[in-house]
Amino acid sequence: MKYKRVLLKLSGEALAGDDHFGINANTVADIARQIKEAKDLGVEIAIVCGGGNIWRGVTGAQMGMERSSADYMGMLATVMNGLAVQNALEQLGIQTRLLSAIEMRQIAEPYIRRRAVRHLEKGRIVIFGAGTGSPYFTTDTTAALRAAEINADVILMAKNGVDGVYSADPKLDESAVKFDEISYSDVLAKDLKVMDQTAITLCKDNDIDLCVFNMQEDGNIAKACDGQKIGTTISGGK
Ligand code: UDP
Repeated sequence: MKYKRVLLKLSGEALAGDDHFGINANTVADIARQIKEAKDLGVEIAIVCGGGNIWRGVTGAQMGMERSSADYMGMLATVMNGLAVQNALEQLGIQTRLLSAIEMRQIAEPYIRRRAVRHLEKGRIVIFGAGTGSPYFTTDTTAALRAAEINADVILMAKNGVDGVYSADPKLDESAVKFDEISYSDVLAKDLKVMDQTAITLCKDNDIDLCVFNMQEDGNIAKACDGQKIGTTISGGK
């Protein structure tokens, strides 16, 4: 395998499947099966779950809520997703640990970097819940932050139906072209919608490669872990 340790970012949307809201059990089971496929090839896997399938802070803010409270609700949503992913993986016999950036001892371990690394070394899949634990951030930024902290070789950004980074939105613009490889500087200069700017900057400054790929094609998580060219690779940090 090309990579020894990967950080897989699952957006909330990915867990909703065709329902477009909430958690679709069949979809989560299918994702877990694909993650197991990659794990069986010997790669260490950490996962960051999004929460947008349940709640986004900006939605609450638009409704007049105080932004921080709305963001904390979003972070709680990521923990629900984390529990769903954990459950699906355990049903396949995989050892997992859910680590939460907000302490909730009854359902998750507190996030402690060294403990996360130890779990990975022991062959457990680590799931990071509650984002960074701070409002005004996203789970994309969480993925960049945790990838840096655990020394992941790459961030694998699993997308729903989109197979990489395009020059424009391929759903809206027929002339959009896909990049096989692109640098972080170009992503920032062209203002390409890959992740939010904070996350991109964190990846760039810490020289963490990012692979954007379509998770809806069966077997792609294992292929991405093996460094196969299935989507867009973004590199060129620092
Ligand atoms: N969130 C936050 N801080 C973080 C991570 C997430 O406040 O460090 C909140 C934020 O409100 C966000 C929500 O959690 O809208 C869900 O995360 P995100 O939108 O990144 O999920 P995704 O789009 O990946 O499903």
